[in-house]
Amino acid sequence: MPELLSNIGANIQISDVLDIAIVTFVIYKIMEFIKETRAQQLVKGLLVLVLATFISGEFQLYTLNWVLKGVMTIGVIALVIIFQPELRRGLEYVGRQKLLKSPIREIGKEKAKHIANQLVKAVNTFSDQRIGALIVFEREVALKEICDTGTLIKADISSELLGNIFYEGSPLHDGAVIVRGDRIYAAGCVLPLTQNKDLSKELGTRHRAGLGITEHSDAMALIVSEETGIISIAVDGKLSRFLDVKSVEKELLNFYLGGFDEKIPAFFGKLRKKKNVPK
Ligand code: ATP
Ligand code: MG
Repeated sequence: MPELLSNIGANIQISDVLDIAIVTFVIYKIMEFIKETRAQQLVKGLLVLVLATFISGEFQLYTLNWVLKGVMTIGVIALVIIFQPELRRGLEYVGRQKLLKSPIREIGKEKAKHIANQLVKAVNTFSDQRIGALIVFEREVALKEICDTGTLIKADISSELLGNIFYEGSPLHDGAVIVRGDRIYAAGCVLPLTQNKDLSKELGTRHRAGLGITEHSDAMALIVSEETGIISIAVDGKLSRFLDVKSVEKELLNFYLGGFDEKIPAFFGKLRKKKNVPK
């Protein structure tokens, strides 16, 4: 036994250790990712299937084994289809990594404060006057296709402009505003609705659209209810409701200055180191 161990020890190279460490890390991250998503039940089902295939093979139950192997093949294709949004989100993020400079990184402290101020002012008015609003803040995943569904604006963020857009008589009041960096990039945009079945029935399509975009990208969505004036923020498919303007301001400052790297998609996000806070 000691001989065997010393043999193994002698044959292990640094590259082997590195290889195992990387694979372990990736598997750990995938498990962590799965733990937080709807994939959890599916993975359990898959494990049962793998086990059943193995056992049927061992006990020479050929027909059952053949059927299970077929199911597994289809299962892999089904997985890709079911998790298309997650895969797309991840790949989009990896693709954009370091290639494009996010407009958010360019924004300094004073400017961020000004933007947050304007947004808070607008949101406060919307909430008081029961004006429905949906504002999406693009992060690293570009929302070009979403912007294309609306009208490009590319203007500085101001409470007056936001007020004009979401004013009920305005042609652009329906749909979402997309904010890219320090600009209102587009308005009247159509977002994907969340497929989350556990949501309260009182949340209609505005809230579902706000949530949906955060499931399809790393964006943050700010929602003001027309019916109740309740302010909500959605990130990563989760909705925080009943926010006051102070917490909205905090979230916005966090978005522009501090928390930039914390809210990116769970799996890939956690692989990233915290970046410098812009000047
Ligand atoms: P509220 O609390 O403001 O009533 P809600 O969650 O109950 O919001 P609805 O009452 O269904 O939602 O709101 C409808 C509005 O939501 C639409 O007029 C439109 O402006 C917006 N909306 C609906 N679907 C989408 C979508 N897919 N993308 C962007 N905006 C949408
Ligand atoms: Mg409604």
